[in-house]
Amino acid sequence: MQIHQNTGGLAATNAYLIADEAARVAVLIDAPGDTILPLLKIAQYHHWDIPLLLLTHGHWDHISDHKIFSQAYPQARILIHRLDEAKLKSPGSMMFQLPYTIEPRSADGYIEDGAEFQVGAIKLRAIFTPGHAPGHVAFYGAENKLLLAGDLLFAGSIGRTDLPDSDPAAMARSLAAIVKLPSDTAVRPGHGPPTTIGEELRSNPYIAR
Ligand SMILES: [Zn+2]
Ligand SMILES: [Zn+2]
Repeated sequence: MQIHQNTGGLAATNAYLIADEAARVAVLIDAPGDTILPLLKIAQYHHWDIPLLLLTHGHWDHISDHKIFSQAYPQARILIHRLDEAKLKSPGSMMFQLPYTIEPRSADGYIEDGAEFQVGAIKLRAIFTPGHAPGHVAFYGAENKLLLAGDLLFAGSIGRTDLPDSDPAAMARSLAAIVKLPSDTAVRPGHGPPTTIGEELRSNPYIAR
C-alpha cells in the first residue's frame, strides 16, 4: 500500500490517494481545492485506475476539486453520506463568500455506516462519525491500521463544532467511539500532520480520558 498526500486550498485541507500498487488501483479520499491534479499525475504515471472518490463530508474545502477528478475519471463513483449530500448539491461556505465557485453535483451513491470498500487489496470500512457535520464519516483500514479521519480528529485538536451544521454532543460520542480503535492506528486527518490514536489519547486536550 502507498499513501500519497497533498494539501491545498484556502483551508489547507488534505487529500489522500491510497494505492495498491500491485493491483494498479487506488482510492481517493476527499478532493480539496488545488490538490487533485498532482495526485492524478502520480496515478497516471503508475497506470493506477481510481474507481472511487470517498468524501468524508460535504464542507467546501473537502469537495472543491471533485470536477477535476470526474473529468479525468468519468467512470469513477463519488460517494458521500446521505446527510451531507445537500452540501455537494449546493456547494459553498456557510461562513463567507468563496472567491470561486464549486460546480454542484449529486452523489453517485451513499456511504452507510459500516460499509466496506475494497480497492485492490485495500479494505476500508466507513464509520459514521457525525458532529463536525451531520453526515461525516471516517474510513478505517483494520489490516493496515489506518484511519482517514476527515475533520473528526486532528493531531492535538478536533474538528470545529461551532458551524451551522455541527452538533457538539454528537461529536463527543463520535470521538469517544473512535479512540477505542487500536492505539497504534495511524491517523491521517483532513487537516494537519499524521498522528496515532495512542498519541491523541495521551496528549489531545479535547479527548476525554
Ligand atoms: Zn469540515
Ligand atoms: Zn475541513
